[in-house]
Amino acid sequence: MRPAHAVIDLSALRHNYTYAKQLTQAKALAVVKADAYGHGAVRCAQALAQADGFAVAFLEEALELRAAGIKQPILLLEGFFQPSELALIAEYDIWTAVHSAWQLEAIAQANLSRPIGCWLKMDSGMHRMGFSPAQYAAAWQALNCSSNVASIVLMTHLSQADELDQPRTEEQLITFNQARQGLPSAVSMRNSPGILAWPELPSDWVRPGIMLYGCSPFEQEQAQAQQLIPVMSLTSKIIGVRELAAGEPVGYGARYITPESTRVGIVAMGYADGYPRQAESGTPVAVCGQLTKIIGRVSMDMLAVDLTPVAQAQLGSEVELWGKQISADRIAQAANTISYQLLCNLKRVPRHYID
Ligand SMILES: *Cc1c(COP(=O)(O)O)cnc(C)c1O
Repeated sequence: MRPAHAVIDLSALRHNYTYAKQLTQAKALAVVKADAYGHGAVRCAQALAQADGFAVAFLEEALELRAAGIKQPILLLEGFFQPSELALIAEYDIWTAVHSAWQLEAIAQANLSRPIGCWLKMDSGMHRMGFSPAQYAAAWQALNCSSNVASIVLMTHLSQADELDQPRTEEQLITFNQARQGLPSAVSMRNSPGILAWPELPSDWVRPGIMLYGCSPFEQEQAQAQQLIPVMSLTSKIIGVRELAAGEPVGYGARYITPESTRVGIVAMGYADGYPRQAESGTPVAVCGQLTKIIGRVSMDMLAVDLTPVAQAQLGSEVELWGKQISADRIAQAANTISYQLLCNLKRVPRHYID
């Protein structure tokens, strides 16, 4: 069997969830959209038995959790797309974001088996989804007077909380607070960077995503993010070793030429597994627990590493592409992307869970 694996440390996941709760003293919806950022939504939700609830993007993701026996509240962050979804939302007792006028109308007109929980979304400055501050109180009134609505949470989303020197988050807070004045409902605005770096934001409910998986939403080092434990370790083994003289090319396009005699290891991992092809020579990798680097272009199923500094490395040696020795954030930086995308792009690699 091919030795490429993603090892998922569920105790690290629980640690990170508990940490989000400690920082905020709030109720927390564990965000498990996109198959829990590539970690497996059902297994992660089952491991978070103590969670106050979960958040996914859309109804099919929520139904997968209900089918697996998850009983806690589940919120649809992207809401519903057609009025016909409301019947299942009610039947499976799912909460939905409400971001548009047509949805208010659909909820008012629906004939539901029971009233549903609504998270009323305000566009406080991200300009992606939600009611404008001027429309917000009227939208709240429309939900509040409907017998189809069981509860309302006031929600907004932060667009720049990962940039600590930008005024946007404070501006969003002021906009949100002004527009919700007099509305007696619980509030939710904090995603991972909001939880880690903006303690002044109100939070009855918080919505941690990337931090649960032990990655940082910040480009720079940030003290609070250092307490997180990486959940996924992407590992494989050395399946080939060769000694090359100085001046020899390695891999497609001869993008790396050995500067001196070099011991090259071939690893069973490539871009078809989700390892980014954009990672160039020099990207860190750990072999036998020791740091070395990727050399040459990443291929579909394999990549090459420099074994010269790892004398004990041989056929079958353990390789960590990212995980506890090298953070996914570090690889994301090398590939000019964010850890969110690397984790979500994982594919073909079997996941192994440890408790
Ligand atoms: C994805 C998402 C989150 C979680 O964001 P992280 O940055 O991963 O913590 C929170 N709220 C909403 C509305 C989202 O779409």
